[in-house]
Parts: sequence; C-alpha cells; structure tokens
Amino acid sequence: MPALKRRQFITSIASGAVGLGVAGRLQARASDVPASRQEIATPKIKKYNDLGKTGLKVSDVSCGAISLFEPNVLRYAYDCGVNYFDTAEVYLRGKGETYVGQGLKGVRDKVVITTKHIMNFDRKIEKASVIKRVEDSLKRLQTDYIDVALVHMLEDMAPLLKNEEVLRAYDELKKAGKIRFTGFSSHSAKATLKQAMETDFPQVILVMYNHMEGKEIEPLVKAVRDKGIGTVAMKILAGNQQGNLKGLVGPKTSYPQSAIRWVMSNPDFDTCIPTMSSYSHVEEYVAASGQPFDRASQDVIARYREQADRRYCRVSCMECLSACPANVAVNDVLRYAMYFEDYGMERMATDYYAELEPGRKPLACAGCAAPCEGACPHGLPVRARLLRSHEILTA
Ligand code: SF4
Ligand code: SF4
Repeated sequence: MPALKRRQFITSIASGAVGLGVAGRLQARASDVPASRQEIATPKIKKYNDLGKTGLKVSDVSCGAISLFEPNVLRYAYDCGVNYFDTAEVYLRGKGETYVGQGLKGVRDKVVITTKHIMNFDRKIEKASVIKRVEDSLKRLQTDYIDVALVHMLEDMAPLLKNEEVLRAYDELKKAGKIRFTGFSSHSAKATLKQAMETDFPQVILVMYNHMEGKEIEPLVKAVRDKGIGTVAMKILAGNQQGNLKGLVGPKTSYPQSAIRWVMSNPDFDTCIPTMSSYSHVEEYVAASGQPFDRASQDVIARYREQADRRYCRVSCMECLSACPANVAVNDVLRYAMYFEDYGMERMATDYYAELEPGRKPLACAGCAAPCEGACPHGLPVRARLLRSHEILTA
C-alpha cells in the first residue's frame, strides 16, 4: 500500500473519518504542512479534560515533544486540536524547547506548555541558578510564561521539600508570573504520589502509566486527582516495542491507539503524552482521542503483553535492586537502553548514561552469578540485558 494511502487508512479506521470530506477539515497552515498531508482527512481531538484544579482544559491525547526534529509537526498537532505540549530543558540539549517555541509561535495563548528541569540534590543548588535556567527556557520557548514547570525525574520529594533555594526560586518565578503551576515528573510514583498528598508544591504530576505497569499506582493517582492535582501519563506505549512484535496492527486499531485507549479509559488521568515526532504519529495518536478501550483494542493489548512480558523492564518495579551486591541501577540502565533502542533517542540516552555514577553502572555484571535474575518477577535475562545496554550506551 503506498505510504500516503497507508497513513490515510490508519487515520480513518480509528477516527471513523472514512468518507468524510477533506475540505474544511484541514486546519494546518498551507505554508507549513507538506502538500501530501493536505490531502489527508485530518483527525481531530474529540475530548478535553480539566487538568486537576488548575482551571486549564487539556486534550485527552497530548504531545510529548521529546525527540522532535521538525517544529511544524507540533503545529500540525495543534491544528488537529492538541493543546498540551510537554518538553524539557534536557531534550535535545535545549533544542526540544526551541522547537516547541518555533512550532507554537502565534498560538501561545491557546496552548498549555509544560517544561521540566532536572535538579541534582546531591550538589548545592543556588536559587539564582534555578531562576536563570527557567528564564533560559522561556527564551527558547519564545514565551514570557510557562504554564506548568516540573522538577524532572524526581524520585523522592524529601530533598526538594528541604531545599529552600529551589522552593524559593519556584515561588519567586510564580509571583513574577513566569510560571503558573509547579509539579514533578517521576518514575517512582509509588513513593512520590504519597508524598504529593502532604504538600502543596505539585499542582500537576507526570508519571509512568501503561498496560504493563501502573495498576498498583491507581489508588494513589485517584487520591492526588481527588486532591485537585492534574494527572498526566507518560511512557504509555510500554517500551514502544511493537516494531519487534507480531500481530499488532488490527483492522480497527493500531497498537499505539490501543495503548492510548487503555490509559485514557482510567478517568483519573487528565491526559497522556505519547511522543509525537512525525506527522504520522500525530494522525495516528489523535485518532484515538475520545475512543473507548473496546474489544479490538483489548485484543491488541493482549497480544503485546504476551510477547513483551519477558522483554519489558517495568522501570518502576525495582524488585531486583536489593538483590544486587554491586548496587547497579538496573532499572535506570535498562530505561536508558529503551530510550536508545526503542524510542530512537540515542543522544539523550547516552547523555543520561554518562551522568550516571560509575558505581551504579553494570561494570561487575560479567563475572556475577546474577542474583538479580532470581529476584525479577518477570523473568528478564537481566545480566545479558545490562551488558548489552552498557555496550550500546558507551559505543
Ligand atoms: S548481574 Fe549485575 S545487576 Fe545482576 S546482581 Fe550481578 S552485578 Fe548486580
Ligand atoms: S529487571 Fe525485572 S525486577 Fe528489575 S526493575 Fe526490571 S522488571 Fe523489575
């Protein structure tokens, strides 16, 4: 099937757009969008949710701008009705924010922009340096305010809540109108969501949630949502391994569409942020907006789970960590390898790995009896995966 027709088919099967007129549905600016895209019946966001009690209304399917190389893809997402865009200071070493600024120029007041900053609480952090980093993000984003500023990859709230410099920086930025809401992203939601109940710092949280891992955090997500905190799901494609698995393109729904439907069938999540790196991603993911987790989606998810069960490291489970005598950061290393191999984000993955303390890298695995494998409830070949991860992340 030619590429254009294949994409049109993917869009049409899930959006019910087959047979609808193209004219009038095309919202993207003609000057920005390739001619081939203008021939496609553009899918539209069908559902908007309250983002906690922030007063913001956000599309149920939103945009993760993590590996973006074409700013007009974002503009196309906006034209399809996506209004929540998530980036980070670290994505593409700042270029992620630059692309978001370029792609959303002229529609700033109609979108919600989230960006994230990593805080290394093992080092001294000055208030002025936090303010400077946020102001640099504002310049790259071509805006004078960030809707949601998240502390990036916060795995324990305690160091943040004790750090007066960081808290005062966010407070001053809020008072100056440069940040509207604060929060955090986390891969350790079991711990951080409990802590979020005890403080007013987070108005929005971004956590891992997908059909392979996340059931255990559902009561906590409900609790923070009931408290009025906005809830955003990330890593919703459960490793993005569909390219290596069989039987995942059904006649009615694709794997990513089924994964989105699964996540958004939980009413405690306000939105989700699959990575939108291409026009095809936008069309495929937006077509899942407002769609139920129906029988066809359930079948696709069941096939993925069956095949990925022993391949996918549930990053948030951490059951193997205490079994390792060498203190290897198993879940982090395997997550960076996932960014490299399955998400195609090689540079960011190697950057993250380079930042990992040498003592937490899998340098002792080659001569180890691998007690981590006995501790892994999912039967992953942990040692082999770690050795390969080190190889690709240091090549
Ligand atoms: S194989 Fe590596 S990760 Fe597993 S227990 Fe041994 S040193 Fe730790
Ligand atoms: S290797 Fe197994 S036990 Fe360790 S974090 Fe991954 S899924 Fe959990």
